Amino acid sequence: RLRGVEKDIERLYEAVPQLGSVFKIEDKIGEGTFSSVYLATAQLKMGPEEKIALKHLIPTSHPIRIAAELQCLTVAGGQDNVMGVKYCFRKNDHVVIAMPYLEHESFLEILNSLSFQEVREYMFNLFKALRRIHQFGIVHRDIKPSNFLYNRRLKKYALVDFGLAQGTCDTKVELLKLVRSEAQQEGSVGLSVQRSVLGERNFNIQSSISHESPAAKLIKQPKPMDVTSRKLATKKKVVSTKTVTSNITRKAASTCPANLTCDCYATDQVCSVCLSRRQQVAPRAGTPGFRAPEVLTKCPNQTTAIDMWSAGVIFLSLLSGRYPFYKASDDLTALAQIMTIRGSRETIQAAKTFGKSVLCSKEVPAQNLRTLCERLRGTPSLAVEKQEDHAHESTLSLRTDQNLKLPPHMELPGNSFHEDGGDISETSVNKHQANLKGWDQVPDEAYDLLDKLLDLNPATRITAQEALIHPFFQDLSL
Ligand code: ADP
Ligand code: MG
Repeated sequence: RLRGVEKDIERLYEAVPQLGSVFKIEDKIGEGTFSSVYLATAQLKMGPEEKIALKHLIPTSHPIRIAAELQCLTVAGGQDNVMGVKYCFRKNDHVVIAMPYLEHESFLEILNSLSFQEVREYMFNLFKALRRIHQFGIVHRDIKPSNFLYNRRLKKYALVDFGLAQGTCDTKVELLKLVRSEAQQEGSVGLSVQRSVLGERNFNIQSSISHESPAAKLIKQPKPMDVTSRKLATKKKVVSTKTVTSNITRKAASTCPANLTCDCYATDQVCSVCLSRRQQVAPRAGTPGFRAPEVLTKCPNQTTAIDMWSAGVIFLSLLSGRYPFYKASDDLTALAQIMTIRGSRETIQAAKTFGKSVLCSKEVPAQNLRTLCERLRGTPSLAVEKQEDHAHESTLSLRTDQNLKLPPHMELPGNSFHEDGGDISETSVNKHQANLKGWDQVPDEAYDLLDKLLDLNPATRITAQEALIHPFFQDLSL
């Protein structure tokens, strides 16, 4: 283990000392701009050692942002492939979210060894998670492979990272109502617009405070309490979700820049002056390559459809065997790359529907998705040919092997039939078929679903609910 990691672990124990009495922090498993994630074990008196992921949120995050991330997990998490939360710890400005640990694959490492069936299951389970969070009015906004954990052996999946999440206008996650939308954050849109939106937000805040505070609502959500959590909860140092959230909101009040001493400070309500502050110094944008056209063009009313686009980009990677598919460091480059796949005229046309005019110096045509994916993957589609010409199956297999450069993983182990001079035994043909892992028979439904996910128009783009009953998933049960 690197010395740097050891130092980080030491510092985390110092920042949040109560962790030390419960966990042994083993390793650092993730480091992003807004958090670090550690693998820890909880050794309990009785029962087995439990693996826990500890997410240490960057202390400079806005308290509402932190509380909203936590609330997404407590409200929507714990089922349908959405990560749940076990405990939460806080000391001063340091917040650590403890989740069940799910060992997972590196997307890039397994991408080219996945069978077509595995890809189908992967997408199905991703849509399950998306349906779940979208039902709660959560827009994740950062759907990408590193936020959808996949354990191939156990066939387990978990959607993580609500650090960028936003609420729909009717979100069931109270704290998301207080989270600034991107358009408000980055607004060079004109002050008048921004002010009026802020006013509306403040009104929302007031109304929610007068009835029930967001923090109070948060704790009412049923939380799975197992033996372990009860044991841990008896230790005084462990802070419950309730305490953390109310402390966070209180902190927002106590650090009020206006230094007001209004009534709201006494309770766990949030000062509206604090809420009107810009939320984040660094823009919290998702990854450009996964962003939907309406996000790239800064369309102000973004819906859950943006997550479906991102799911489409993941699907595109899975079908083409290329990751990342769109490699763009900025939004305009990303938009240009989308045009090369979906067509420039089509993109401009769609942007018009959400009130954006896009200029493009060169016209590029839309590509056929099957042709594109097969060319990139290097697997021919023999499905139709094979059905028609069963007697020549062996010839076809041979042709496949000789004429097309297969990716290394698809090459035959101990390939014997080149030396045999074309005399192919039944078993080697079968072996070859097995190695193609279903990639020679990708049905049209796959590309139909991909086309509906990568719909440039968010208003007509397929929803998670609809995707789950798409013919592509015919024999998979919900
Ligand atoms: P960030 O905001 O830094 O991206 P994430 O919540 O996405 O934070 O976590 C970063 C990484 O940590 C993930 O990509 C994943 O590899 C790992 N990780 C997060 N949560 C878990 C978990 N519950 N189990 C296992 N690994 C996790
Ligand atoms: Mg992440």
